[in-house]
Amino acid sequence: MAEVILNIPTENATDKSDICCIDMQTAVLDISKSSQTNEEKTAINYADLVQGMRDAFNSGKTRPIEWRIRQLKQIVKMLKETTSDIFAVLASDLRRHKFETFILEIDYTVQEIEYTIAHLKEWSVTEKPSKGLAYLFDSVEIRNDPYGVVLIIGPWNYPLQLALVPVIGAIAAGNCVVLKPSEVSLATAKYLKETLPKYVDTECFHTVLGGIPETTELLKQRFDYIFYTGSSVVGRIIQNAANKYLTPVTLELGGKSPVYIDNTVDMPMAVKRVLWGKCINVGQTCIAPDYVLCTPEVQEKFVQEAKMTIKEWYGENPQESIDLTRVIAEKQYQRLVSYLSGNGKIAVGGDVNPTEKYISPTILIDVKPTDPIMQEEIFGPILPIININNAYEAIKFINDGECPLVLYVFSKSKRVQDLFVDQIRCGSVCINDTIMHFGVETLPFGGVGNSGIGAYHGKYTYDTFTHKKGCLIRNYNKIAEFLAKNRFPPYSDTKMKILRLLLARRRIPGKKYLPYLLAFGVGVLITIGFKAILKEFNYLEEQL
Ligand code: NAD
Repeated sequence: MAEVILNIPTENATDKSDICCIDMQTAVLDISKSSQTNEEKTAINYADLVQGMRDAFNSGKTRPIEWRIRQLKQIVKMLKETTSDIFAVLASDLRRHKFETFILEIDYTVQEIEYTIAHLKEWSVTEKPSKGLAYLFDSVEIRNDPYGVVLIIGPWNYPLQLALVPVIGAIAAGNCVVLKPSEVSLATAKYLKETLPKYVDTECFHTVLGGIPETTELLKQRFDYIFYTGSSVVGRIIQNAANKYLTPVTLELGGKSPVYIDNTVDMPMAVKRVLWGKCINVGQTCIAPDYVLCTPEVQEKFVQEAKMTIKEWYGENPQESIDLTRVIAEKQYQRLVSYLSGNGKIAVGGDVNPTEKYISPTILIDVKPTDPIMQEEIFGPILPIININNAYEAIKFINDGECPLVLYVFSKSKRVQDLFVDQIRCGSVCINDTIMHFGVETLPFGGVGNSGIGAYHGKYTYDTFTHKKGCLIRNYNKIAEFLAKNRFPPYSDTKMKILRLLLARRRIPGKKYLPYLLAFGVGVLITIGFKAILKEFNYLEEQL
């Protein structure tokens, strides 16, 4: 791993002036000189782009595992060689501290690639599943097939990691990729556009810059898979566009991820874990705890502890802390500021600075379920608390809303933990912490219902971009044909009986039969042993 010295983002790095002048004309594909309208030209060029990718895919270039591993290693090289550029673009887009950029974007992505490289050969082995009697002489295989040309659309909140991690899976599975990073995090998008081609095969990977018009045009093309990360509203637009060609999709969406806290917890620890999830990237995290459900007694302890924690982490005036990221853009800032009035009472924080798009970590109490802040995902450093009387009320409250991306439960009681896990439909669950489940590479990550379709991370990313192609390979074995010819007319009852026997699904005997099987096995062994002893006696008798 590249050695990284963590210190304050430099003035240059936070200065937006060097990226603000990016000409959006360079952000779309080169347009040829003809009499067509701009829209038509862009569309045609996107068609050419996708066709070029398809030609590269059809050439078989992406098939060898070694080629895929080479591409993945090149991305690691890129991340290591351009670490300081990444710090700079993230500081420019979000005034993000290097610590968060390194841990949550760079190192996370490098780890994901290295894990993929280490397991890729094992994941891509052709599976040989079990088979029935009728297929005794045949080969039954599940081949891991890439889809072809995939479109990956990224969001702005973790603009590097959330763009590259799906790309890693798509490459690992042998696809060609068109990547469309978010136009909102423009510095990072531009970094990807300029840097990726220096490291990966440009015939198979392409980054398209642009906003809604460009994405709309791109979506008119025929892709073999679309992987989208962003809001549920846009998720519906993506799915509608995909329907035209029945293109399969993964939709990694958002929503309101609730936190339930009861009075059994270690409050100082619980508060730190909730606030950390809310404060990294100033709450602009799809799995940030959105709101808290607890009793008034728990709320009092929570608020007291939160005041101390915020002071400990960010000092008397959090605005002066270099560790707090800023809100990405004016539109998002205005939306968040509007929540600070008309939504209960500010118990902690509530400070803002429009020039810096700064909002201090804020806790709201006396919030009503009907308040505006409870109607949409907050996606910022504001944490409303809703009072409930018990776990059952909390479960009902959550289940009355859309399926959350994550459910956070803070309780020492196993009974309470199980109650929530069993009774709430959600993407993932994290008990007694926030965000940390995201780092478990063996867990699928994704939503359900309004929070998404499909999942990824680790092998799940590889599987997402892989079509499991079932193959039956028969031969001209005479015995097999003798048995299988019972399927041919003229039909008869005997033929049907034989065929049913051959095609019968084999069932593994259930556990309830295990003692009988063991008893039978022991019986057989005793009989064999007894016979051997008897034989020995007979022999001795003969000798005497
Ligand atoms: P967004 O949906 O506004 O934008 C995401 C992408 O969609 C961008 O690349 C953008 O250019 C494109 N886009 C936007 N409007 C479009 C339109 N009308 N037609 C076609 N394309 C369009 O989302 P965002 O603001 O970048 O991200 C915030 C949302 O994403 C939150 O809801 C958050 O919870 C969610 N999110 C989810 C995950 C996850 O892993 N589940 C991760 C990060 C963010």
